[in-house]
Amino acid sequence: MRLARHAPRFAESVIRAMTQQINRYHPDDGVNLAQGFPDFPAPAVVKEAAREAIAADLNQYATTWGIPALRDGLARTIGEAWGQRVDPDDEITVCCGATESMLVAFMATLDPGDEVVIFAPSYETYAPDAVLCGAAPRYTTLRAPDWQIDWDELSVLITPRTRGLVLNTPHNPTGKVFSRAELERLAALCQEHDLYCYTDEIYDRLVYDGEHISIASLPGMREQTFTVGGFSKTFSVTGWRLGYVVAPPEATRLIRKIHDNVTCGAAHPLQAAGVAALALGAPYVETLRAEYRVRRDYLVPALRNLDLPCTAPAGAYYVMCNIDAWATHLDLSNDRAFSDYLVHEIGVATVPGSYFYPQGSTQGDHEVRFVFCKKLETLERAVALLEKGLRLA
Ligand code: PLP
Repeated sequence: MRLARHAPRFAESVIRAMTQQINRYHPDDGVNLAQGFPDFPAPAVVKEAAREAIAADLNQYATTWGIPALRDGLARTIGEAWGQRVDPDDEITVCCGATESMLVAFMATLDPGDEVVIFAPSYETYAPDAVLCGAAPRYTTLRAPDWQIDWDELSVLITPRTRGLVLNTPHNPTGKVFSRAELERLAALCQEHDLYCYTDEIYDRLVYDGEHISIASLPGMREQTFTVGGFSKTFSVTGWRLGYVVAPPEATRLIRKIHDNVTCGAAHPLQAAGVAALALGAPYVETLRAEYRVRRDYLVPALRNLDLPCTAPAGAYYVMCNIDAWATHLDLSNDRAFSDYLVHEIGVATVPGSYFYPQGSTQGDHEVRFVFCKKLETLERAVALLEKGLRLA
C-alpha cells in the first residue's frame, strides 16, 4: 500500500501509550499522572446547559465558524483581558479544540519549505502540524531548571525561510509563564523579522505566580499574532473539543474556509454550553485557580521529598522532575526506563521528558512529567504509591 510520505514521521503518542499501560498493568490500583485530563466533574451549570441545548434541539450544523453568542462571549472575555476590542465577526473562529485551532492557523499561513520555531520541550502537536503543511519545525531549548530562553540560540535559528514562532504560555510541560520582558523581546524579534507568532494560551486562566500576558495585546502585535485557546482546561471538558483562534481579519477569512473543509464546525449544543461556561466569569476562575494552587502546593514538595527535584510551575498543571538520583540508584538508563519502572512496578503513570523534545534528541533524558489536574485524593494516592514503591527499591 502506498502511504503518504510525511505521515510515518509522526511518532505514536507516548502519553496515550502510558495511559494504556497503567490501565493494563494496574487497572484497579494505578494512578494516571500522565495524561492532562481532570478526574473531577465539569461545572454542573455547564453540563446542564449542554443537556438543555440538546433538549432544545440545537442538534444541527451551527454556523461553521462558531455560533454568534459564543463568539460574542469570547470577544468580550478576550477583549477585557487584552484591554482592546476584539471583533467576533472578523477575528474569531471557533474550532474543534485548541488542537484544530493551531493546525488551521498553520494551514492558513505556512507553505512547503517554510520553517517555524518551536520552544522545546513542547506540547506534542505543533511539529506534526507544521509537517502537515510541508513546513519544517526548528527547535530552541528552554534551559532547565528555570526554563530560560536561550536568546543566542533562538536568533541563530531565524532565517529567510522562518515564517513564525510558536509560543505556549502558560507552558506545557514546564509550567513556565513567560514574563512581560520575555514577551516584549519576542514581540520585537517577530516585528524585526516579520514573523507570525502562533501563541497557545489554553492555560491562560491557570496562573499561580506572575501574570498571564497575551503577546497579541502588546503594541503592534495584533496584526501578526494567532492566539489559540479553548474550553478543555478552564472548564474541565477535554472531551468536548471546543477551542478557538483569534487572528487578523484577512487570515480569519482563510482560516474559516480551511476549518469548514476540515471539520465543518464544533458540536452545536456544546457551543451553546460554552456560552454558559463563559458566563461563569471571574468567581469561577478564581476558585478553579485556588483549587489548582492547592494541588500544586501539595505535589511539588511531595515530589521534592521523594528526591525528584523540580521547579514549581508558575502556571498550567504539569511539573517536570529531575530523575537522576533514582536513575542512578535503580540503574535505569534514562527517562523512558524510569517511566516504565514507575508504571509497571509502582503503578503511577508519568510521561518521559524526552517525549517533549525533538525525536531522537537525548534532551529530556533526565526528566519525567507529572500532571496535577486530578483530585487531591488522587494525588495523595500517587504520592503514597511512590513513597512505598521507591522506599522498597
Ligand atoms: N495546547 C496545549 C499546550 C495542551 O497542553 C493541550 C492539552 O493537553 C492542548 C493544547 C489541547 O487542547 P484542546 O483540548 O483544546 O485541543
